[in-house]
Amino acid sequence: MAKRKFIVIGGGIAGLCTAIALRNKGFEAEVYESAVQLKEAGAGLGVGANALKAMQRLGMGDKLMERGKVLKAARIVNEKGELIAKTDSVKVSSLFGTDNITIHRADLLHVLAKSLPDSCIQTNKKCVGISRQPDGGVRVSFQDGTTASGDGLIAADGIRSSIRQQLIPAAAPRYAGYTCWRSVVTGVPAGYEAGAFTETWGSKGRFGIVPLKDDRIYWFACVNAASPRDPKLAGFRTQELIEHFSGYHATIRELLEKTDDGALLHNDIYDLKPIRRFAFGSVVLIGDAAHATTPNLGQGAGQAMEDAVFVAECLERYSSVEEAFARFEQLRLPRTRKIVNTSWTLGKVAQLESKLLCSLRNGLFRAIPAKVNERQLRFLLDVRFDI
Ligand SMILES: Cc1cc2nc3c(=O)[nH]c(=O)nc-3n(C[C@H](O)[C@H](O)[C@H](O)COP(=O)(O)OP(=O)(O)OC[C@H]3O[C@@H](n4cnc5c(N)ncnc54)[C@H](O)[C@@H]3O)c2cc1C
Repeated sequence: MAKRKFIVIGGGIAGLCTAIALRNKGFEAEVYESAVQLKEAGAGLGVGANALKAMQRLGMGDKLMERGKVLKAARIVNEKGELIAKTDSVKVSSLFGTDNITIHRADLLHVLAKSLPDSCIQTNKKCVGISRQPDGGVRVSFQDGTTASGDGLIAADGIRSSIRQQLIPAAAPRYAGYTCWRSVVTGVPAGYEAGAFTETWGSKGRFGIVPLKDDRIYWFACVNAASPRDPKLAGFRTQELIEHFSGYHATIRELLEKTDDGALLHNDIYDLKPIRRFAFGSVVLIGDAAHATTPNLGQGAGQAMEDAVFVAECLERYSSVEEAFARFEQLRLPRTRKIVNTSWTLGKVAQLESKLLCSLRNGLFRAIPAKVNERQLRFLLDVRFDI
């Protein structure tokens, strides 16, 4: 019997992980990416124990560990740097037999791309249409006039997925109410707790500090903006960020001063309000195309990694592609919905602007026992790949 062949649209984390997972199971996978080159760029990324477990299932765990840094603790502090809450990440992740790590996104994408044969990935191939074939297969048309067909189609084309747009026209990205700058610098600030991820919560916004391997720090700053593409904020460079966060503790200034304007990434934050379907016969949505989330739980890429494992497991279990994708949807809808909703709410709480509400919130978070925070983390990190 001929190998079943799957078309994967999108060469981001979801698409590449899925191609690896499918090939591991003996399926053929062809990845089509619209960009001229795979985008080995970006800043840092948290890979939770759940996501690392998924990567281990793909045989990629060691490669990630080589380039990743183990996170020891997650802390929330106020503008002055005073502790609001702390979670022992090692203790929690050890319950699931693996670590939480951080990695540079470029390193992750590089490792993923290198794990696939060149012939498996075609760039400069923008999908412009899909059609289901009478035999149950799927045909994809590209902007350059070419087509590709397979037994099933995996749409991993990101939050602005044109395939989702074709299947669920009403689903559109939802603006979260804040905008985010990111960068990576070399050198850990003096006195900074090695291995700890720190978020500073204050009335002028949130500032995250994430240690990476090789003495690098990934930082991000989220500031409220009533609408996307705010012209004033779009013009912010490091000097404006230094001024904006001037009332915050000194580590933030130190990191911003080390940042070149050219190395600054800026995005308005969006997610996708949970949709009700991922599976459409022999077409399935995965990754951000299916369940883009705000970055507040550091789980967008992690959920894409989990998706990759589940898609491949379901296809191995069911001989019918439709049944496999329907089972995938059944398994993935509840967990991803919960993550998207929890992350959305956490973002609202973390981005409070009123000094009074910030002070009440910080008091409340201080009063929450560490055990409760750890229990919250468990729901994120505890994934079972039972089909
Ligand atoms: C500020 C920020 C911080 C984040 N931090 C974290 C974190 O710490 N941890 C974490 O797990 N996640 C994090 N995320 C989320 C994570 O980056 C995403 O969830 C993840 O990259 C999604 O991967 P994806 O492959 O689904 O989509 P994408 O990375 O968007 O990839 C989609 C790919 O499809 C291609 N494409 C689009 N349309 C077409 C088409 N028509 N034809 C062919 N190709 C097409 C695109 O060019 C792109 O390469 C963060 C996100 C942001 C914005």
